[in-house]
Amino acid sequence: MGQTAVSIGANVFQFFTRNPRGGAAKAIDMADVAAFNDFAADNSIGPILAHAPYTLNAAGAEGRVREFAEMTMADDLRRLEFTPGALYNFHPGSHVGQGAEKGIDLIADMLKRIFDSFGSSPSTQVLLETMAGKGSEVGRTFEELRAIMDRANLPLGVCLDTCHVWDGGYDIVGDLDGVLKTFDCVIGLDNLKAIHLNDTMNVLSAHKDRHEKIGKGKIGLEAIDRIINHPALRDKPFYLETPCDLQGYKEEIALLKSLRKS
Ligand code: FE
Ligand code: FE
Ligand code: ZN
Repeated sequence: MGQTAVSIGANVFQFFTRNPRGGAAKAIDMADVAAFNDFAADNSIGPILAHAPYTLNAAGAEGRVREFAEMTMADDLRRLEFTPGALYNFHPGSHVGQGAEKGIDLIADMLKRIFDSFGSSPSTQVLLETMAGKGSEVGRTFEELRAIMDRANLPLGVCLDTCHVWDGGYDIVGDLDGVLKTFDCVIGLDNLKAIHLNDTMNVLSAHKDRHEKIGKGKIGLEAIDRIINHPALRDKPFYLETPCDLQGYKEEIALLKSLRKS
């Protein structure tokens, strides 16, 4: 993955810890881990971002759904101990009709149990992703993420997904400064550790979550230019989750670098 990232001009990358639909992860190959850590240092690769499977739902109504989430996240975090400095991002969950309050409690409690199993906390920074608010997703508002952070009382960070916040109703095209001010008041910009940089197929507040290629959607290139150059954001790591193949990502990275003001 490190070699692939460098070959397309990337200096960070995101990866799935296992099949995004769930299931067992491959056994750890210690020689490969050591080779990656050396390669990452030699090539100035920034924080790698591990994404939990989509099927992980800490706020599920059924015990077995929550147990799967807890087991999987704990296993992911144990594996990530071998790549120091990594970040771990997960979708907080869907409350499936139990209500956001209940969902927030379940998510916070799961995180507490997992962190406890590491003594106090894993070495990896755990991030809550901002969600589009599709179905009963928890995390559609900054306040819901704040509530998870407060109830868990753990050093959690946030990953801001540009497609999701837009679909969730935050106008990052018309009022980026206003949205970031709100983010700062509610969550704190210091807690913003990663950005999923995506365009979107849908209008503001659509609550749909359909990613689009950079500059080809409703966010558009001008707004993306403002996002990657914004003083509050420009030094954060950006990860593309656009519907591209490897060549497409290479072109998007080149485009973004060309927009970047020094
Ligand atoms: Fe995600
Ligand atoms: Fe995302
Ligand atoms: Zn998404």
